[in-house]
Amino acid sequence: MKILVLNAGSSSQKSCLYDLDYDNNLPSLPPPPLWEGKVDWSHHQGVAEIEVETARGDKFTEEIATDSQSEVMSRLLDTICEGSTKVINKLADIDVVGHRVVHGGRKYRESTVINQSVKDAIAHLAKLAPAHNPANLAGIEAVENILGDIKQVAVFDTAFHSNIPDKAAIYPGPFEWTQQDIIRYGFHGIGHQYCSQRAADILGKDLMSLRLISCHLGNGCSLAAIKNARSVDTTMGFTPLEGLMMGSRSGSVDPGILIYLLQQDNYTVEQLDNILNKASGLKGISGISSDMRQIKAAISQGNYRAQLAFDIYVHRLRSNIGSMLGSLAGLDALIFTAGIGENSPEIRQAACEAFEFLGIKIDTDKNIHKPIDEDISTSDSAVKVLVIHTQENWQIARECYELIAHQV
Ligand code: AMP
Repeated sequence: MKILVLNAGSSSQKSCLYDLDYDNNLPSLPPPPLWEGKVDWSHHQGVAEIEVETARGDKFTEEIATDSQSEVMSRLLDTICEGSTKVINKLADIDVVGHRVVHGGRKYRESTVINQSVKDAIAHLAKLAPAHNPANLAGIEAVENILGDIKQVAVFDTAFHSNIPDKAAIYPGPFEWTQQDIIRYGFHGIGHQYCSQRAADILGKDLMSLRLISCHLGNGCSLAAIKNARSVDTTMGFTPLEGLMMGSRSGSVDPGILIYLLQQDNYTVEQLDNILNKASGLKGISGISSDMRQIKAAISQGNYRAQLAFDIYVHRLRSNIGSMLGSLAGLDALIFTAGIGENSPEIRQAACEAFEFLGIKIDTDKNIHKPIDEDISTSDSAVKVLVIHTQENWQIARECYELIAHQV
C-alpha cells in the first residue's frame, strides 16, 4: 500500500511516501520512506523553497515564486513520478493520503476517512486552532485538486487525548464552559502515541500494562500521562498555550495577569495573543532566542537572563512531571522526545534529579552519549528513562494503514 503523508503548517510542510506491504503487524520502527519532500515559505515572502530526497539518495531543490499552495503542491507531487526523484510511475498509484490535522474537537476521537462533513468540521474548528487547521485543510483541498477523489485520512493531534476523564478535561470555571466546548483537548497526540508504543517495544512490555509520562520538548512542549495505552492527562489544554514553558510561548500563567494588562495597560487582544505566543517562554525571559542551543551558549558566557530562562524551564518541567505523576499514581517509564528532549542531556538530567527520592536514576554516561531509542536509566532505577526519536509521519502512515488495510 502506497501511503503519502502530509504534515501541512502555515509556513512549512513536510511530506513522505511509504510503500507498506506487510501481511502481519507493521514494524514499530519506520522503514525508510521512498520519497520525502519539504516546502518552506518562511525565508522569503511569496517564495516556496522545495527540497526533495529519495531513499536512493537522489535530491532535488527548487524555488517557486508563488503564494498558491495548490501550485506548490502540484510541483512537489510531480517530483514523485518525474525526473531524478521519480519513485513511482504515476500519482494514481498512491492508495491513500494521510494528513496531520491539529484539532479534531470533541467529535473526532479517532483517525477518520475524509469526506465533506469532515472537511466542514476541520474548517469549523479553525476557530479553536487558527494557526493550524486552515493550513491542514488547504493541504487536503490541494491534494483533492491534484489527485481527484483519492482516499484521504485525517489523523488528529487531539484524538489520543480524547479519553481524558472529565475531572482532568473540564476547567473549574462555570459549568456552561463545557457547553461552549471550552474544555481541555491536549495536543501533540500523534507524537505521544508513537512514543508510548515505541516505549513498550523498547521495554518488551505490553503497552496496556505500562504507566508512562511522555515529555515532548520541542519548540512547543507538552507532557502526557499515559495509562491503558491512552492519554489520561496532559499539560496543554483548550489551546497549545497551556502548561509548560516553551520556546516563545509562556505556558500557564495566572489569568489574573491578563485581566490586569487589559484593565490597567489597555492591552488589545492581539497584543496579548502576540505576547503569550510569540514573545514569552525561553525567548521572552532570555531576550536572546527561543532555541535552547542558544540559551545554553549564552549561559556558558555567564548571561544571567539565559540562566534564568533555563531555570524556569526546568522548574516548570519538574512541577508538571509531578502533576502527571499524581494523575497516574505511579510510573514505569519517563520518555524524553522532540528537539530538546532528544538532544539536551542537561534538561533530562535536571528533570530527573528532582525525582531521585522516588528512585529515578539516570546513567550519566548513557545520557550524554546521544542516546536514540534507548533506556538511559541505571540498572537499579525504580523507573525506566527513555529517549525516543519522535516519528509523527510514521504514526500517521500507520493510522492510515490500520484504517484502510481491510478496505482496499
Ligand atoms: P522541534 O520542535 O522538535 O523541532 O524542536 C526544536 C527545538 O529543539 C529547537 O528550537 C531547540 O530549542 C531544540 N534543540 C534542537 N537541537 C538541540 C540541541 N542539540 N540541544 C538543545 N536543544 C536542541
